Amino acid sequence: MKIAKRCVCCGGERLVASPAILMPFLAHRIFGWDSTEVTAAWNLRDLAPGRVYSLCKTLDCAACGAIFLDMRFDDEEMGALYHAYRGPDYCAMRERFEPGYARRNAALAEGSPSLPQIETLLAPHLGPRPRVLDWGGDTGLNTPFRGRCAAHHIYDISDKPVIAGAERVGLEQARAGRYDLVVSAHVLEHVSDPTGLLREMTSAMTRETILYLEFPHEELMRRADRDDRASAKRHWHEHINFFSEAAIDAMTARAGLAVLERVSHPVSAGGATSQVFSVIAKLHG
Ligand SMILES: [Zn+2]
Repeated sequence: MKIAKRCVCCGGERLVASPAILMPFLAHRIFGWDSTEVTAAWNLRDLAPGRVYSLCKTLDCAACGAIFLDMRFDDEEMGALYHAYRGPDYCAMRERFEPGYARRNAALAEGSPSLPQIETLLAPHLGPRPRVLDWGGDTGLNTPFRGRCAAHHIYDISDKPVIAGAERVGLEQARAGRYDLVVSAHVLEHVSDPTGLLREMTSAMTRETILYLEFPHEELMRRADRDDRASAKRHWHEHINFFSEAAIDAMTARAGLAVLERVSHPVSAGGATSQVFSVIAKLHG
């Protein structure tokens, strides 16, 4: 794990820090760290007794307004966090830390009712039967145009069985795929280097390929008073990057992408409505 010294979106070095807690589920799953009670019996002369949690920092980029966790997990730590993601063991562990998680996860597994809305957004940029790569697409259940695309490829760290009509591919195959559409939905908010991941995605694109990105437009980032945001973010869970409009523009530009559309709109998933950014981009130039 590294501690970020620069903004993960724009590369800016003016980061304002405030203290926060790494949520116990993440601390336990990644590092095996558990909260504990410091008592007088510890004989710590200069420290006050009380409950201790895993401390971290919220970083706020002065240049682009991105807000993110200072801890940047390495591949091994990400592997520990996302191994058999949302599988039975994962859900059982998370339920222990966050009662009610299993029920919410079951609702998510039913697939997104907002898919037609996303397809309507993308349709003007595509032919009737696009070749589609879903980067981080899990089982392929939420890939736009599933069931009616010329190719439905999934590149994902998980090895879950994919839905009928979809095919799991490796990185080399993805790079050779000549896709009309590369999709990456609800991935960038989880990763340590979102700009680097965007650059990697461009390796599966041609000049004609459309890239569709979707990630949360977090409630915190919709607050009018920008100064309040970082001090209101006192805990970090699996979404380790909160994106602003300027952060999106900066990271896509650094990855060599030109943004065609960037909209913030509500979608429904798992019986709840949330606000997301939808970004449509192409290779620059
Ligand atoms: Zn920034």
